[in-house]
Amino acid sequence: MTTTQTLNDPLDVQPTPLALLLLGRESDPRSERGVECPGDLPAPSDPDLVERARAAKARLGSKVFILGHHYQRDEVIEFADVTGDSFKLARDAAARPDAEYIVFCGVHFMAESADILTSDRQQVILPDLAAGCSMADMATAEQVAECWDVLTEAGVADTTVPVSYMNSSADIKAFTGRHGGTICTSSNAQRALEWAFSQGEKVLFLPDQHLGRNTAVREMGFSLEDCVVYNPHKPGGGLTAEELRAAKMILWRGHCSVHGRFSLDSVEDVRARIPGVNVLVHPECKHEVVSAADHVGSTEHIIKMLDSAPAGSSWAIGTELNLVRRLAKAHPDKQIVFLDKTVCFCSTMNRIDLPHLVWALESLADGTVVNRIQVDAETEHFAKLALEQMLALP
Ligand code: SF4
Repeated sequence: MTTTQTLNDPLDVQPTPLALLLLGRESDPRSERGVECPGDLPAPSDPDLVERARAAKARLGSKVFILGHHYQRDEVIEFADVTGDSFKLARDAAARPDAEYIVFCGVHFMAESADILTSDRQQVILPDLAAGCSMADMATAEQVAECWDVLTEAGVADTTVPVSYMNSSADIKAFTGRHGGTICTSSNAQRALEWAFSQGEKVLFLPDQHLGRNTAVREMGFSLEDCVVYNPHKPGGGLTAEELRAAKMILWRGHCSVHGRFSLDSVEDVRARIPGVNVLVHPECKHEVVSAADHVGSTEHIIKMLDSAPAGSSWAIGTELNLVRRLAKAHPDKQIVFLDKTVCFCSTMNRIDLPHLVWALESLADGTVVNRIQVDAETEHFAKLALEQMLALP
């Protein structure tokens, strides 16, 4: 049976301030690093952009390796040598030691991870330095150090193991390595938590409260009462020493501004519109959304699930819109819709566009390294410990 592709039309959306931001017509100084690219960017209207990108890439040959995160725009993905999630891409880059320049079409923390995992002679380039991640920016090194002091005063730091999501800055990864913790991805969060609870009595989960809560409660049998939320903007995290002592999971008050937008209403609405629809969401969504969904999984899991779904089946997907749009195009025999009614691109990820990519590639081809992301040696050392612990997870 053939079904029509009914991805929500972005023209059909309500013009919320956030939608305007996502469409690039506003800026959010709190969630972006706010660094403009130096040099002359080609105009977005330049009709030769595609040709210029091709030519610059050809001039660089095997010296350049372009990584494209799943949430990137199509115009950028077209030039990626590999696509994937942040950890897969960092490992792909490390497996290409001949590539002197790694152009990371993703966000800042991903480029940092690539720099940590690649050799010293490889240079990692982020085409637009304003491509940050609002979630990663919700946990700074100072805030996390203060949190550790609070845990120490409450007498629980010695028995607490930090587990940090890949979507965190190199500083936070280094904090995790310094305190004997591990990094996790949305694919291995359960294994990471099981390991952490074999090492200590509590976990400090950074920076995404939803992934931490969803994994602990859905996958591991903890109750919501076992989880407390540490708010870095309140004295003592807004928690008493008793609450910290009683908790099993101390969740950092961070979230993804894209996945955090899906609501129970979005799930109920799509179920009413499309009888029999399968709701498939990312674990960065709120607990109530994940609880109401039929399936939950990482980006890679979502892609695989749709690949193996039967023709004619209907799916509402709760993840970033660029990816959902590409999946809908790739599976015209299935009905794949976006879970929310309003557009939900990752605005910072969308900073990387064709003009920035052309600018970065042409600069490199002319011998000028631009927008290099470099993690200092000490931070790299401790961040690597935490990343290696993740690789060693049972
Ligand atoms: S989708 Fe969310 S977690 Fe991923 S880069 Fe964007 S803001 Fe960060």
